[in-house]
Amino acid sequence: MVFYMPTRLICGDDCLALNAQELKSLGSTCVIVASGQAAKASGALNDAERALESCGIAHFVWDCVVENPPVVDCAAAGRFAAKHGAEFIMGIGGGSALDAAKAVAVFAANPGLGVDEASFYDKAWEHSPLPIVLVGTTAGTGSEVTKVSVLTDSKARKHSIHDDRLYATLAFGDSRYTHSCPPAVTLSCGVDVLAHAAESYFSHKADEISRAFAVRAIRQLMGPLADAAAGAELDGDGRRQLYEASILGGLAINTTGTCFPHNVGYYLTENYHVPHGFACAVFLPEMLKQVRAYDEAYAAAFYDEVGTIEEALVTLIENCLPSFDIHMDAAEIAAALPRWENNGSVKNTRANVSVEMIGQMLEALFK
Ligand SMILES: [Zn+2]
Repeated sequence: MVFYMPTRLICGDDCLALNAQELKSLGSTCVIVASGQAAKASGALNDAERALESCGIAHFVWDCVVENPPVVDCAAAGRFAAKHGAEFIMGIGGGSALDAAKAVAVFAANPGLGVDEASFYDKAWEHSPLPIVLVGTTAGTGSEVTKVSVLTDSKARKHSIHDDRLYATLAFGDSRYTHSCPPAVTLSCGVDVLAHAAESYFSHKADEISRAFAVRAIRQLMGPLADAAAGAELDGDGRRQLYEASILGGLAINTTGTCFPHNVGYYLTENYHVPHGFACAVFLPEMLKQVRAYDEAYAAAFYDEVGTIEEALVTLIENCLPSFDIHMDAAEIAAALPRWENNGSVKNTRANVSVEMIGQMLEALFK
């Protein structure tokens, strides 16, 4: 069993302002990578700029991160950062902004990489990425504490890249930044946390430490997520619980990776623009069924530890999901299936998951 997570994570109200001095050692020029509206509306961008100014750190803002950011955009932002002499990169936002910031740190340190996407994915980076600072504004991704960046390639496919050099040096977790999330974002991010934790627990790579994080994440999120699904306005305490659960979920998948719901979910996002959390969570009920069939005792231990039963967890997931207006015919499903042959996330699932089973699942959900 190995546990490694070198990011200094500072959480709590006003943590950015109260710990601004932590930024001083990272350099005198910073490029902020953000997805425009969310970073502003949450108050995080303003707090970050004030923190940088209080340390005398010059900063430039790249605020054009889109959802499921393309690698080429990150390369452009990397050139922007290099041009301004950035010594570190600060990502502000949800998973898209944080994952983009990690890649921007790579491209800023290696400006020549921008023309060759393959060398980015091959991790043939001559220089280490610039130091990375992350400020989360959603309770979902957990990217603050992972070595993972999920980006979209030039063929419009989502891929995750894992590398120890992608850990943030510093991350700030102020759950008040999540207060401005609209209800649909709260729900999609919330079920993403649930997916991270459940997939991690049912990964072949799960160990005692990752399971502890996964169980705690689910125990902590079930209450506020059910409230949000019922249309309730979450109070500060509920928001904090959800945010902490997202960090715990990140710590869990950082060890184990994800299982088939995440990878099949990428297909829905790429082709039908379904938000990431909903796209993954729609496959969770089937995963829970398959993992129980594979190892009933292991599944029973899971429900014991999280303090619920399968039916209740499935009901919670269903209550969070929107209705999908998606229809796939047999030809489309047949054309999609090869991508899941020998897929790492599919093989990572503690169940007998075949490509045929994925086809049947897609047919049952979206015919
Ligand atoms: Zn996810």
